[in-house]
Amino acid sequence: MTRRALLSSLAIPALAQRRKLPNIVLINADDLGSGDLSCYGHPTIRTPNLDRLASDGVRFTQFYSAAPLCSPSRAALLTGRYQVRSGVNFVLFPDSTGGLPDSELTIAALLKQRGYATHVTGKWHLGHLPQYLPAKRGFDGYFGIPFSNDMSLKTNVVYDEINKKKGLTRPPSALDRYRTLPGVPLMRNEEVLERDPDQTQLTARYTEDAIAFIKGAASRGAPFFLYLAHTMPHVPLFASARFRGKSRGGLFGDVVEELDWSVGEIRKTLAALKLDENTLILFTSDNGAPVQLADHGGSNGPLREGKATTWDGGYRAPFIACWKGRIQPGRVIPDVASALDVFPTIARMTGGLPPASLVLDGADLAPVLWEGSSRTQRDFFYYHAGMLHGMRRGPWKLRRHSAKEPDALELYHLESDYGERVNVAAQNPEIVAQMKDAMASHQASFQPAVTQR
Ligand code: MG
Repeated sequence: MTRRALLSSLAIPALAQRRKLPNIVLINADDLGSGDLSCYGHPTIRTPNLDRLASDGVRFTQFYSAAPLCSPSRAALLTGRYQVRSGVNFVLFPDSTGGLPDSELTIAALLKQRGYATHVTGKWHLGHLPQYLPAKRGFDGYFGIPFSNDMSLKTNVVYDEINKKKGLTRPPSALDRYRTLPGVPLMRNEEVLERDPDQTQLTARYTEDAIAFIKGAASRGAPFFLYLAHTMPHVPLFASARFRGKSRGGLFGDVVEELDWSVGEIRKTLAALKLDENTLILFTSDNGAPVQLADHGGSNGPLREGKATTWDGGYRAPFIACWKGRIQPGRVIPDVASALDVFPTIARMTGGLPPASLVLDGADLAPVLWEGSSRTQRDFFYYHAGMLHGMRRGPWKLRRHSAKEPDALELYHLESDYGERVNVAAQNPEIVAQMKDAMASHQASFQPAVTQR
């Protein structure tokens, strides 16, 4: 079914109903690990605003982003579908010609149909060509960098600095891809405002843009959806003068503390507009911390490895949900949940079920967020680079040892072996067999889309 057909099956609520619809602020940090916030146990980085968001709301301790990389993770978050269904399986580059296909329904397109003002500030990374930009995927407005902040000749050199610290050298050809490309663009809708903008100002400029959108939508009385996708703390790391050198957690800590400040500014704005009782705020990250980047990358706490791997360090992210008066505050939720659950949750809370013909891979989080009951947990499948690498079912994780040896399977009991240290496949052949069958039937249930590059 096409996106247009999906949308035409939805009714637009009358104005009076629209006024009652909750606002949604979805904040997505880039490469922030699940151990990088003080409320998630970081010993030196101070995140008082995010800690308050968690204590005023709920914090999940076993939350998965849908991919260990930026573009696939964002495709899944905004569509509620594994990235293999849209074909956004790899990171998109400034010379990519693909993006999120028009057949996909984003949260923004769904909410726009329900009368929401929609806006994205920050990193898009679902295709930078005009046909893939936010305006074509349900967003009324856009301000930000359409891909990663390291994707230019000027900024990609960060890896030379990282390698130097490790005593390694990177071949000069690593920069070849960027030599003929213009610098990283900062865009307003479809217009490039600047090339290689001063990244020390990005978090502040994104925050200013997000607040301007909130104020504008509030003044018009429209419910709004703000997707604030920060560029930080993806390398190269930049903090403004006000935060630089201030954190005990080094430059990475400075950057995270500025993101925390941004969350505080957003909440102050909502409170001043008396919108905090009618606004759901969600905070997460697109993938685990890139621990291989040494002190340029964050922390995944006790999880194994990080970004771009199929260990849990690649997928787990912080997830905080806050809605004053609606979500019972202060809870810490150990249930397994994922970024795929965001679309079904938002779809239901804003107007009923999503179109019946739309296949969604997550489940509504309402039972745990505000209905005070338990939810049916879904299996979580680990996709990376277009391939199925494993699955999570209850406490168990079945993992393919490597892409080259798809039949070599490892089993971990994640709830008692947090760091995936002990492979217990040999002791649990029945569980391995059941999960292997579940992976096979999941794969047989649909046809993956053509990969976008
Ligand atoms: Mg990322």
